[in-house]
Amino acid sequence: MGPGPINAHPRVLRAMSADLLGQFDPEMTRYMNEVMALYRPIFGTDNRWTLLVDGTARAGIEAALVSIVTPGDTVLVVNFGRFGLLLKEILGRIGARIETVDAPWGEVVPLDAIKQAIERSQPKVLATIHGDTSTTMAQPMDGIGALCRDADALLYVDATATIGGMEIAADAWGADIVTGGLQKCLGGSSGSAPITISDRAAALINRRKHIELGLRTGSLDDVDGMIIGSNYFDLGMIMDYWSEKRLNHHTEATTMLYGARECARIMLEEGLAARFSRHRAAGRAMSAGLRALGLALFGDDRFRMTNVTAAYIPQGIEGERVRQRMREDFEIEIGTAFGPLAGKVWRFGAMGYNARKHKILITLGALEAVLRAEGYGCQPGLAVEAALSAWNEA
Ligand SMILES: *Cc1c(COP(=O)(O)O)cnc(C)c1O
Repeated sequence: MGPGPINAHPRVLRAMSADLLGQFDPEMTRYMNEVMALYRPIFGTDNRWTLLVDGTARAGIEAALVSIVTPGDTVLVVNFGRFGLLLKEILGRIGARIETVDAPWGEVVPLDAIKQAIERSQPKVLATIHGDTSTTMAQPMDGIGALCRDADALLYVDATATIGGMEIAADAWGADIVTGGLQKCLGGSSGSAPITISDRAAALINRRKHIELGLRTGSLDDVDGMIIGSNYFDLGMIMDYWSEKRLNHHTEATTMLYGARECARIMLEEGLAARFSRHRAAGRAMSAGLRALGLALFGDDRFRMTNVTAAYIPQGIEGERVRQRMREDFEIEIGTAFGPLAGKVWRFGAMGYNARKHKILITLGALEAVLRAEGYGCQPGLAVEAALSAWNEA
């Protein structure tokens, strides 16, 4: 019950045990087309270019940024946690001029501050995290896309931690590229990064597309944009591979594609609204249970992600011992924290296959038992009771 990776849905594991196919086998290319169609509603988009980047979520982030940002471009990062800092890190390696608009951990960045930062820095790209698992905060996306359009900037969103659990509305947000991963609310394994790319972003990328030397024929001419500084993460070449051209690039990660496809099928069968409401119920139950244990929650309640909740480690309790006892006595993993929150909070995930009533009740019951054994005074039974009634609230 950590903030990802989480337990995969058993159907995903079964799908991932199917035999391999050649990358240009018609059955395989049919699956690729199916994956494109399955992920459009999940991203809330009509974008033609909705596909998978092979690699963990970070591969999607890196592919997006290296493909749209050229050295010297100004990029504005909306930074409110570890993953905002990761964007900064990656952009630094690309050679971007980085500007940030920041919020302290546990808060989000107000739209007004974003507006002023755009006016000040005139970015070519604005990059933000949707839900930052390090702080458990979800940045409200309303209005950011419109500000980007007005400033003629592209909008990139990392939705790794929220995709499959909270609504992703790439088109309504006005986002140009949104990326995700499977190992959080989609209930799969790490190793595949779903991505969606607007036509506007695709046009920009295609102006930088250089056909790989060994694949050139007379008809494949170069364009004059600056070559993308990575072969593996060149979205232009990856789009060609996923298009009817099927221009060879990397060897598609067959097993991960089966996994990604099954994650999406399960999500669409459940229904997006039911899925989000299940995560909301899970978040509500987890928060209520932790509070009933007498723990203080970290961060601004108004912007809390529904799928991960952080609670302060109480005075006199050793956080790592609690995590170890949870793991050893109950086979339940809970999360630590990074940076300024390291050693201060635990993070409890309720993601994807783990966003289930019984899993939350069992986790809270176990936590209560461990805390009491560690000498923490709390009244037995209250946490589970509070979580159960919070789950059942409308
Ligand atoms: C978990 C997480 C990632 C993880 O990236 P990986 O490469 O899959 O480890 C990226 N971004 C956010 C916001 C996350 O929460």
